[in-house]
Amino acid sequence: MKSSDLFTRAEGLMPGGVSSPVRAIKPYPFYTAGAHGPFLQTVEGKNLIDCCLGYGPLILGHAHEAVRQAIEVQLAEGWLYGTPCPHEIALAERIAADHPSIEMVRFVSTGSEATMAAIRLARAATRKPDVVKIEGGFHGAHDAVLVQAGSGATTMGVPDSAGVVADLVRHTRQVPYNDPAALDAVLSSSEEIAALIIEPVMGNVGPILPGENYLQEVRRITEDHDVLLIFDEVITGYRIGIGGAQKRFGITPDLTTLGKIIGGGLPVGAFGGRRDLMEMVAPQGPVYQAGTFSGNPLTMAAGAAALGWLHDHPETYRHLDEGTRAISDACEDANAGGSFVRLGSMFKYFFRAEPPRNYAEAKESDTTAFRRFWEKMLAKGIFVPPSQFETNFLSAAHTEEIIERIADTYRTCL
Ligand SMILES: *Cc1c(COP(=O)(O)O)cnc(C)c1O
Repeated sequence: MKSSDLFTRAEGLMPGGVSSPVRAIKPYPFYTAGAHGPFLQTVEGKNLIDCCLGYGPLILGHAHEAVRQAIEVQLAEGWLYGTPCPHEIALAERIAADHPSIEMVRFVSTGSEATMAAIRLARAATRKPDVVKIEGGFHGAHDAVLVQAGSGATTMGVPDSAGVVADLVRHTRQVPYNDPAALDAVLSSSEEIAALIIEPVMGNVGPILPGENYLQEVRRITEDHDVLLIFDEVITGYRIGIGGAQKRFGITPDLTTLGKIIGGGLPVGAFGGRRDLMEMVAPQGPVYQAGTFSGNPLTMAAGAAALGWLHDHPETYRHLDEGTRAISDACEDANAGGSFVRLGSMFKYFFRAEPPRNYAEAKESDTTAFRRFWEKMLAKGIFVPPSQFETNFLSAAHTEEIIERIADTYRTCL
């Protein structure tokens, strides 16, 4: 089997030949036949060190034994019930214990579903129509969040995709990240705002870190204006530590969305938060939300196993942090004029002299230089996400030796 032949078959059947846009690498993507530990095996038989890791979920690496065993045990008992199952309670208990702000939780099948429902809930609870998001913040692929920045913080959003109705995204406003004054201005300008949805650490334009006290200011400003604060921790949850960004930065959001890691690599999402808000979700309350695959036993078992393993191996987070520090040091050695951003196991080399503080700055990166670098890395056996604007990850399966290889390859490819 050859990737080029497979892509020729896929092209006529699937838009762009792929099931999700970022996978559409030109001229054709490599196809994967298997994945174990830190490696992807291509159909051509090449072993690649994976720093994409399914775009975030695989903090334990590919086909991790603990998760595999949990899936196998559950497989023997069936994989979809359409009734409640014990595993979902175990996972909910774990998530609630790890996040004091999450008193109740609803499981869904993707992060997109989670943010869609959280926004609906915020609108219902406040009886207000508008939401504020951060420019460049990614919350999945549904209409309310597919919005482009207008020409200034207080302008209404315009659709970022064909087929999104302008009348609808009129209710979505955007402010730049790391700019509390812009947030305060928008919230002061309107009585119609239900919620702010924010990735506490931006993860979908490469990582962008919050400035000192930024998240504290965000909490204070939203509280002052009676606007609900939704932390979208789909990437950061269990990624930057148990308890996510809210624990790390000491913030209590009203609602939280989770996904990625909490499913152990199977499709998942969740939203949760204050009891008085979550009690508004159907069937307890009037906010409708439902899903055939929600809380399915296979995902719940895989997620509980992954989170259990992380609890049993807390040293993992230090190992991952030291790993990205080693890669950062190598990039500094290379002295190639860009900037390295990292937080725990999230990292990125930006082809821009200073680490970006917001989306507009990230967009100034030299994407042509990134593409050349990306090709060199792949030729040397390291797969990083094929975009300047996607976060790179490490996993527990990335040993010191593997990390050293990654660091060396960065040094030579920059
Ligand atoms: C990945 C992601 C989503 C969307 O999750 P899906 O499972 O892909 O629908 C939402 N928010 C953030 C912050 C994400 O990183």
